[in-house]
This record gives sequence, structure tokens and C-alpha cells, in this order.
Amino acid sequence: MNVVKVLVAAPLHEKAIEVLKNAGFEVVCEEYPDEDKLIELAKDVEAIIVRSKPKVTRKVIEAAPKLKVIGRAGVGLDNIDLDAAKERGIKVVNSPGASSRSVAELVVALMFAVARKIAFADRKMRGGVWAKKQCMGIELEGKTIGVVGFGRIGYNVAKLAKALGMNVLLYDPYPDEERAKEVGGKFVSLEELLKESDVVTLHVPLIDATYHMINEERLKLMKPTAILINAARGAVIDTEALVKALGEGWIAGAGLDVFEEEPLPEGHPLTKFDNVVLTPHIGASTVEAQMRAGVQVAEQIVEILKK
Ligand code: NAD
Repeated sequence: MNVVKVLVAAPLHEKAIEVLKNAGFEVVCEEYPDEDKLIELAKDVEAIIVRSKPKVTRKVIEAAPKLKVIGRAGVGLDNIDLDAAKERGIKVVNSPGASSRSVAELVVALMFAVARKIAFADRKMRGGVWAKKQCMGIELEGKTIGVVGFGRIGYNVAKLAKALGMNVLLYDPYPDEERAKEVGGKFVSLEELLKESDVVTLHVPLIDATYHMINEERLKLMKPTAILINAARGAVIDTEALVKALGEGWIAGAGLDVFEEEPLPEGHPLTKFDNVVLTPHIGASTVEAQMRAGVQVAEQIVEILKK
């Protein structure tokens, strides 16, 4: 009997491996192989599972005559040559919603961290400084949050913000009124959202229309007491403009999980501000999100290969 072989080329949750094995597949695991190794491993497999690495190039796809499906445990597909896959009729599956709640929870954590100066206070404590006077914060209840991009993550953030007693403003070129009602949100123009919000949080994809969407002009629309959160993609904000805005006090602070250049270079101007909280692109880094992402991709692969 011909056993179906699946190559897992990135770390994958054990529950996802179980799904593949329970379907009767032979699972070969090799964490992040280089291109030559991947070509060698791909020659007799029907599916390859990756995360943001390794790259599934045209060369890899051409070297895999039995390949029927490529699975990406996570969202972006930029490490997969989609044209080459399409030409061969190879399906590409991913798990876009698996991390939405995790990213939303990180956004809330960043919001509180900036509003209550938690990271700053922690740094001071470790340096032996009891910075009580410098740590006057603000409450979030009754404040207005502006959610830019009301998709999967934006919706989860709005839901949590509503539970905190915040007023919710939304901006999205494709407004979903039903979902807005659910979170007590109101669609407004981007300009109005920036002017009215105490917290502005970005949840748009990085596309031409959103590249440097938050620029000098728009930062100037924000309240001087406002907090900006970015857990979307670094280039949605013009970093130079943000550094200027923080330096000159156009806004009160920022919580950033993503950067135009990742890893953020050592000594970057953003690391100099006490009112900025930085995390290294960890929005989806939870046990639950990783498990969901793996299992969702594994289940789709089983469905495709069992047909
Ligand atoms: P989604 O596709 O569900 O939602 C995106 C929303 O943005 C959509 O409703 C869309 O209509 C809207 N949109 C598109 N163009 C817009 C514009 N010009 N102005 C305003 N809104 C616009 O995506 P999602 O799953 O919610 O992900 C959102 C972002 O989060 C993506 O950039 C993704 O890369 C990022 N993300 C980050 C992490 C992390 O670790 N920090 C993890 C997962 C996703």
C-alpha cells in the first residue's frame, strides 16, 4: 500500500501531528531545513507544512512531483511561491483566524502597560528606584478606543474594549454593521477616529493603501493624551514621524509589537522613550494560538488528501 507522506518543515504543535498521524499519514519532521535539504525531503511527499519559514520556492515545488498541498500554520503566505503552486494545481491552506484572540489580548496588555506605565515602573524598580510619583496613570473605562481595520483582530479587540467599558469607534472601508452593533461600535471617518480616540489601535493588512497610513499629518490629528498601539505591521506607521510625534509630545505614548525593521535594531530611537512599550512581534505567540494554527492546517490537509 502506498503511504501518504507529509513533511513538517517547521515546529508544529503535537496535537496537529496527531491529526496527521490519525489520518494514517507518515509524518516526517525536519525543523527549518535549508533549500537543498527541503528539495531532497520534498521529493516524495504529498504535503508540506511550514510557518513563516522555510521558503517554499519554485525550485522546491518543481522538485516535488507528488505535492498536492502546502500548509502554512499562521497567516502570511509570503514565504510560498504561490504562482508556482498555482501552475501545478497545488492547494495552499493557512489558518488566518487562529491567532486573532491572542493578538487582541496582547493589544489590551499593551494598552494597560502604557496607560499604567507598567514597563517603566518595572525598569525603575529593578534599578532600585521607587518611582511612585512618576507613575501616575489613566483608567481605560469610559475612554474611547479607535479601531482601525475592523476584521478578525479588530473585532476581538473591540469586544474586549467594550467589556472594559470603553467607547468604540471603528474605521474600515468595508464596514460590517452587524458586528459593529455586537461591540457597541460606531463607524466614523479615519480623521474623526484619530481626533476623538484616547487609544488608537491598528488592525489593517499591510497593502499599498495602508503603507505609512499613520504619517505625520495623521499623528498630528491625535490627542496629545492619546496612546497609539500597533500590532498589525510595522510599515503601517511612518516610524520617523512616530519618533517625532513622541519626541515632541503630539501623543502620550505607544505600544508596539511590530516594526518597519525586525528585529528592531539595538539603540533604535523608539527604545529611548519611557512612554513606549515594545514587544518583539509576539501577538500570535501563545500556546493556544499555535495549537489552533497547527490543528486547523492539519485538518485541512487531511481533508484535501483524503479526497
Ligand atoms: P483581517 O483581514 O481579518 O482584517 C483586516 C481588516 O482591515 C479588514 O476588515 C479590512 O476591510 C480592513 N482594511 C483593509 N484596508 C483598510 C484600510 N485602508 N483602512 C482601514 N481598514 C482596512 O485581518 P486580521 O486577521 O484582523 O489581521 C490584521 C493585521 O494583523 C494584519 O496586518 C496581520 O498581518 C496582523 N497580524 C499581526 C500579528 C502579530 O503577531 N502582531 C499576528 C497576526 C496578524
